[in-house]
Amino acid sequence: MLFLGTGASEAIPNPFCDCEVCRKALNSNDPREKRGRSAFSIDEQNLIDFGPDVIGAAGRFGLSMSHLRNLFYTHFHSDHCDFVNWENPRMSVTPPPNFRVYLSEEALTGLRVFRDLVLSYPSKDYARDIRFYEKTMEFIPLRPYESYTVDDMTVSTVRGIHTGRFVDEIVLNYLFERNGKRFLYATDTGPYCEENYEFLKGKTLDILIVECSFGKSAPEKNHMTCEAIKQMTDRFRRDGVVSDRTEIWLTHIGHKGGLNHVELRQVMRELVGTQIDVAYDGLRLVDF
Ligand SMILES: [Zn+2]
Ligand SMILES: [Zn+2]
Ligand SMILES: [Zn+2]
Repeated sequence: MLFLGTGASEAIPNPFCDCEVCRKALNSNDPREKRGRSAFSIDEQNLIDFGPDVIGAAGRFGLSMSHLRNLFYTHFHSDHCDFVNWENPRMSVTPPPNFRVYLSEEALTGLRVFRDLVLSYPSKDYARDIRFYEKTMEFIPLRPYESYTVDDMTVSTVRGIHTGRFVDEIVLNYLFERNGKRFLYATDTGPYCEENYEFLKGKTLDILIVECSFGKSAPEKNHMTCEAIKQMTDRFRRDGVVSDRTEIWLTHIGHKGGLNHVELRQVMRELVGTQIDVAYDGLRLVDF
């Protein structure tokens, strides 16, 4: 498993920003301080999110996507879905993979509205692109709090507490299970609702990946802060979701949190203990 990107929507550094986090990251030689927009590779067949930095990250970190089978979208904010990327399969020399695209029902509705708008514009290029996507990508809508079989995995969904890009778009956080192992990918989200905690209760995780967009800033409804992660992991521990053996990794890290990699790691380890750590672009986890 590979973190292709671990930054929030603006990336770190955001070259247009002169805040302390961005300035330090811009001048740093430590690759952990440079974060592209978040995406995660489970393996060569399974990808979570396909934002603007995925193509570059795949090249840098040696990920082939020529055998991609399943793309799981959390939601359609531009840091998680970049439509320009959809052109890359079409521009393959070798036959591109056909793959399934998992997304919320509301995201699919939004996408269809967009498709019809684009097709109403008299451009042959757009019509050709859309015909290609419809031939090679199968769109599969998902509901929160359901479980699905996807190849050799069981994939369950909870709700990301976050406002999506399309009208009423529900954001999905994913629980993946395979070979007796489990991990939860929890971005984008603010503090979890009771329904999420109830759905996950007793499902002990091997790995928890959770967003930390807002670090030490004031509480947020749409994103997580250090303090919100502390509260979430405390609750998960009481519910048997996090055990002493669960690895906890932070991703989707933003400059507004005011902490660089080393500082965030220190703050979170003081709050939660040594089982929590901060992911960085290119970090590999044990195979799942
Ligand atoms: Zn995001
Ligand atoms: Zn900044
Ligand atoms: Zn978002």
